[in-house]
Amino acid sequence: MDRRKCAWPNSGQLHCPLKQVGIASAARTTPDQALGAETEAFSDSGPFRRIAGRTAVDQAVAQVAELIWSGQLRSGERMPAERSLSERLGISRPTLREAVHRLEHAGLIAVSLGRAGARVQSDLVPLQLLDEMPHINRSDISGLLEARRALEPRIAQLAALHGTTEDFDHLLRLVVKQRQAPPDWDLHCQLDTRFHLAIARATHSPTAYALMRELQRRLAVARTYFLRSPQDPKLLADIHEATGRAIESRDMHRIESEMSSHLGWLERVWERESGMPRLRSMPNFLTPLAEPSLSGRRSRGRASSR
Ligand SMILES: [Zn+2]
Repeated sequence: MDRRKCAWPNSGQLHCPLKQVGIASAARTTPDQALGAETEAFSDSGPFRRIAGRTAVDQAVAQVAELIWSGQLRSGERMPAERSLSERLGISRPTLREAVHRLEHAGLIAVSLGRAGARVQSDLVPLQLLDEMPHINRSDISGLLEARRALEPRIAQLAALHGTTEDFDHLLRLVVKQRQAPPDWDLHCQLDTRFHLAIARATHSPTAYALMRELQRRLAVARTYFLRSPQDPKLLADIHEATGRAIESRDMHRIESEMSSHLGWLERVWERESGMPRLRSMPNFLTPLAEPSLSGRRSRGRASSR
């Protein structure tokens, strides 16, 4: 769409968050489909997946849900009025109304009488509403955690290099939001996702953001299905604050160290909670400063420490 016409909140960020939905058909896989059969994308059945019909309503729902999930549309914000929104999305008003009805039914938005647009009323997005969620098997978790190690410290350092004071303030405001949020672990998981996406957005690189987005989508699916026990939200907020302060300091060694502690915390939670006695041993080149390899931690009996 034409960026110049976009008046959406935060439209000065990486890209205008509203994309034309139009008439399209593409593969769509729900988390239930993706996870129910625990089928590898490249299993005996080959790399082919079922193609299901995907309507303009589905796409409009997924787009708004993702904007809320990623924090580009925030709780309390008002969406554009119906006519404007239908034009931006490239869909008819009846189609938009059906999408809005679904989002309202899911508790994500509230529609008031009159001409004003709907208001976002929840930060907690059911993953089924998001678009084409990935396949994640239990056996994928080790690779997922390794990919975080390979990617996230570098993205945090790029955020420090290219981010603005406003970006850093936003990260720390997200920590405040975490501290003020009710003790709902699903909500805290989504606020965690939002924090990591905000780090990627601070790189001002669409490619870094796209990589982080895919990583976070995979983590969200994996967490939802394989890691159900609530953890301490205060500890998570403390870890995020330390990470945010390190990025703000632009001290690359400090960022490396904090990110290593940050990712190490989730790895140890995962070891305890996933029912897997061992994760794949983390190679030293992915844990360069603060964290020894998992096998090293075990041998020193530190596996349960933060
Ligand atoms: Zn985190």
